[in-house]
Amino acid sequence: MTDDAPTPTAQHARVVVIGAGQAGLSVGYHLGRLGLAPGSDVVLLDRSPGTGGAWQFRWESLRLGAAHRVSDLPGMHEMGLRFDDADRSRPARDVVGEYYRRFEEHHALRVRRPVEVTAVERVEGGLCVSTRTPDGRVGRIVAEVVVNASGTWGTPFVPWYPGREVYRGRQLDTTGYRSAAEFAGQDVVVVGGGTSAIGFLLELDGVAARTRWFTRRPVTWSGTSALGVESAVAAVREQDRAARAGETLPSIVSGTGVPVSRRIRAGLDHGVLRDEPMFARLDEDGVVTGDGEHVHADAVIWATGFRADLRHLAPLHLRTGAGGVAVEDGRSAAEPRLFLAGYGPQASTIGANRAGRLIARQVVAALA
Ligand code: FAD
Repeated sequence: MTDDAPTPTAQHARVVVIGAGQAGLSVGYHLGRLGLAPGSDVVLLDRSPGTGGAWQFRWESLRLGAAHRVSDLPGMHEMGLRFDDADRSRPARDVVGEYYRRFEEHHALRVRRPVEVTAVERVEGGLCVSTRTPDGRVGRIVAEVVVNASGTWGTPFVPWYPGREVYRGRQLDTTGYRSAAEFAGQDVVVVGGGTSAIGFLLELDGVAARTRWFTRRPVTWSGTSALGVESAVAAVREQDRAARAGETLPSIVSGTGVPVSRRIRAGLDHGVLRDEPMFARLDEDGVVTGDGEHVHADAVIWATGFRADLRHLAPLHLRTGAGGVAVEDGRSAAEPRLFLAGYGPQASTIGANRAGRLIARQVVAALA
């Protein structure tokens, strides 16, 4: 919209939900069960073209399995759908996209897409949600309550290291990875200690000429093949503490350690997964380690995590002095008409699901 374009007339809704990934769909479903009509009382907006939330963008080779277990949405079982029964030979993005599409249809959630939320502001009577579609049409919806469920995929985090600007090879983050074949015969440096980095290294084995793996902290292997309940609980508790304190959120993997699946065990045994301390800098054609070794790299993949995508909430000035956003049980401490689903302790598929009911109940109480 140009500055002199007329301000569009505002529509009204009781609740606007931003994002129709797992967290947004879960909230939408529970709001429906509590008597709010999707499409009129509750408006769900999503900027992406298809169903599946962030999963629709994940790389073709990614499959659902031990490392990538997706919890079922509430209300999926009554449709006879379970991710545990899903076809593991199909790309995860296709399976999740299809299941979520059927879920949205079955529960008539009437998601509007692609509609991007560009800003949320305080106005008389509630919060004004400004929107834009890819063809440039803008809109405004004034809602009594807003539930933000925008995930993290839109804001990959890449740390700054000296020489990033002089390096002439290819640099990409997790969202830019398509397939190992793109790196056939190349020297590849992978950065980051999470499941994405590990997945890339395993895929690149035997395809790339050489890989080297650098991490800020030594990788802790959890010693079990699946995420232990205790470490998961501790990691979620730490996320919750940070969210309540308004601090930046710690990475989940730093709290849990990485479970050693059969595939990872084979990678460890064959020396594919050998993490080294973070390099000191990049130069024109590679990276230089702390010991001064030059490592040639045709490509550097930054699998260094994500941050919550809250850019459209900037007009609400939610950032605390500690650098984060204060959130208690899914509700913003600074703006009681705003809920954040899938944030902090809820940022896993299990958490995002449970959050749905918790937040929907609070939303209905806030409306009353
Ligand atoms: P998302 O799935 O990201 O959905 C958010 C939605 O909001 C998107 O559809 C997006 O289009 C929309 N949106 C964002 N901003 C706007 C805006 N301004 N306006 C309108 N719409 C907007 N978790 C697991 O439990 N198991 C896994 O195996 C797993 N693997 C992962 C792998 C990767 C590479 C990553 C990055 C994450 C993984 N996660 C995994 C965590 C992941 O965050 C969850 O699986 C799940 O996607 C979170 O759901 P969500 O609804 O919070 O976010």
